[in-house]
Amino acid sequence: MRKKLIAANWKMYKTPTEAREYIAAFLPQVRDHRRDDIVLCPTFVCIPAVVAALGESSIGVGGQDVSWEKEGPYTGEVSAHMLRAVGCSHVIIGHSERRQLFGETDDAVNRKLKISLTSGLQPIVCVGEVLAEREAGLTEDVLRRQCGIAFRDISGLEAVPLVVAYEPVWAIGTGKTATPEMAADAHSVIRTEAAKAFGDQVAQNLRILYGGSVKPENATALMSQPEIDGALVGGASLDPQSFARIVKY
Ligand code: PEP
Repeated sequence: MRKKLIAANWKMYKTPTEAREYIAAFLPQVRDHRRDDIVLCPTFVCIPAVVAALGESSIGVGGQDVSWEKEGPYTGEVSAHMLRAVGCSHVIIGHSERRQLFGETDDAVNRKLKISLTSGLQPIVCVGEVLAEREAGLTEDVLRRQCGIAFRDISGLEAVPLVVAYEPVWAIGTGKTATPEMAADAHSVIRTEAAKAFGDQVAQNLRILYGGSVKPENATALMSQPEIDGALVGGASLDPQSFARIVKY
């Protein structure tokens, strides 16, 4: 049985004060929640406030991006080592907003994945097709390419902490969700690519999340699919009540 992971992607929302208020409202609702792993991914500047507010709770904290370099003259970048140093356990890599709006390539995703794994971060690598690709029947090809390049030159042992999020781009922030069948098909392509790269055992244990307009109203239907090992939640994670309802689907 793969333990489900439910992660909040706050994107570019919330100041440290707002983040503290969120945790004060969220924590009491999930304090005894053991069934699933929970991770909050705030902006870089909110990470220390979130880590401090979570205190001894088992909720993880993740960055929303990471540099592929260790350190150096890379203005605006944040390293995996720095994320670890401020208390992050996870990091989102290759989110479609980074791919589409900031030109992130499959190769960059691979480099970021490698440094995250060697730095002890648990990466949540996002993959998924845009609407035109789905309509052209290219979903499987896109997922194969994104996973094939992302997983390159990483051993099965190194890949153990890896998490993948299948996020059809047409479902992100649009209110549309993939049907359970669409998600199951995509997840099986991703698991096959993981088996090729890392071996069957690592692939069987790989958690593959679904992301794309997950809300309290559809969380139960999505999370009850055996192939869906959790959720990456954007918009509906910004409100502590709404995210707590998703966690407790
Ligand atoms: C996301 O940003 O990863 C996401 C899935 O967003 P939303 O839940 O708003 O569709």
